[in-house]
Amino acid sequence: MAKVLIIGAGGVGSVAAHKCAQVPEVFSEIVLASRTPEKCEAIRDSIRERFGRQIEVARVDADRKSELVELIKGVQPAVVLHLALPYQDLTIMEACLECGVDYLDTANYESPDNPFFDYHLQWPFHESYREKGITGLLGSGFDPGVTNVFSAYAAKHYFDEIHYIDILDANGGDHGYPFATNFNPEINIREVTAKGRYWENGQWVDTEPLEKKWTFDFPGIGPRDAYLMYHEELESLVKNIKGLKRIRFWMTFSEKYLKHLEVLQNVGMTSIEPINFQGREIVPLHFLQAVLPDPASLGPRTKGKTCIGNIMEGVKDGKPRKIYIYNNCDHQECYREVGSQAVSYTTGVPAMIGAMMLINGPWKKPGVYNLEQLDPDPFMEQLNRHGLPWNVVELE
Ligand code: NDP
Repeated sequence: MAKVLIIGAGGVGSVAAHKCAQVPEVFSEIVLASRTPEKCEAIRDSIRERFGRQIEVARVDADRKSELVELIKGVQPAVVLHLALPYQDLTIMEACLECGVDYLDTANYESPDNPFFDYHLQWPFHESYREKGITGLLGSGFDPGVTNVFSAYAAKHYFDEIHYIDILDANGGDHGYPFATNFNPEINIREVTAKGRYWENGQWVDTEPLEKKWTFDFPGIGPRDAYLMYHEELESLVKNIKGLKRIRFWMTFSEKYLKHLEVLQNVGMTSIEPINFQGREIVPLHFLQAVLPDPASLGPRTKGKTCIGNIMEGVKDGKPRKIYIYNNCDHQECYREVGSQAVSYTTGVPAMIGAMMLINGPWKKPGVYNLEQLDPDPFMEQLNRHGLPWNVVELE
């Protein structure tokens, strides 16, 4: 049993807080802190109404290490679940190191003025975390997160060597708006408008944004167009899955979504370069975010399912083998349980399970790790128990 500190009261932070509250035998006390205290209070009230549990709330600016250190020292949690934005990864990792507390996040560090994102500033914490005897879990969401665990599970139980991995992420949900993003619009749009990238035969191959398309028949959803994108789990899986020859990531977008995005891009609304507007400096993408629907408001409106999983091909006992491991998650069922749609749910649940792996012991190992570096079995077992059951299918 342990106390946890959750930072960030958006879609993902809300799901993680609700899910932790449902497992009191592991999470005996929960503190939720964020920049806007009213959002924490609304989540606190929802948890009290749904599950009859009381959580504490606090205010913190996670861009300021000194505020974080004061908060962590006051709360004295066993783990900090960083579910704010990727811009805060480094300040929170540093604060956890100073306080000697385990750390977990769901997205790798991104600098606010440079959309490039990778692990090169987070992996170097490994030695200092190891010396301090604390654990840092990088990317404990769905993708990255569960997709990394699916890879490790396949490598452990289904293959002698995995040669090809395709990660496919489909959102078959419909929220009824002409255009909205399912999680933080700024992060989402940055990701989608970036160049594509995959890894083959020992090197990275760049593509134009959304240049490569694959129409795939997703279980529980049906055929959808998926587009090749760069995604952060590729960087660690290339290092940690031995024998890999190619790995790619695909995400579905509707024609309607892509048409709106194209127009917004063409008129300059997705730019992160500041402009002067009536004597004030504004970033067009920040302005766009302010006028788009808040992802947290999509919950009651979104119907349909998500389907995220890995198709993996390789050899077992000298014979070729191809399997697909995936999860289907229903937007409306998530909303009924925790008041959020499936995109936040599929991220918040693995964040809770990652924290559970640290508190209960199986993943408590000093240093900084991506999820495929740890034993996948206890994590896979908890996915089935806490709302993200998975299937394994042998493919021809
Ligand atoms: P939201 O934008 O809904 O929520 C972000 C929260 O962080 C808000 O409560 C926000 O506060 C808070 N926040 C932002 N800046 C600060 C700060 N300086 N100090 C304290 N709090 C701050 O995002 P999501 O919940 O959708 O996403 C959360 C994280 O999960 C992101 O990093 C995202 O990239 C990641 N993610 C990972 C996925 C995966 O599968 N691995 C999938 C989806 C998301 P305020 O309300 O004041 O703005």
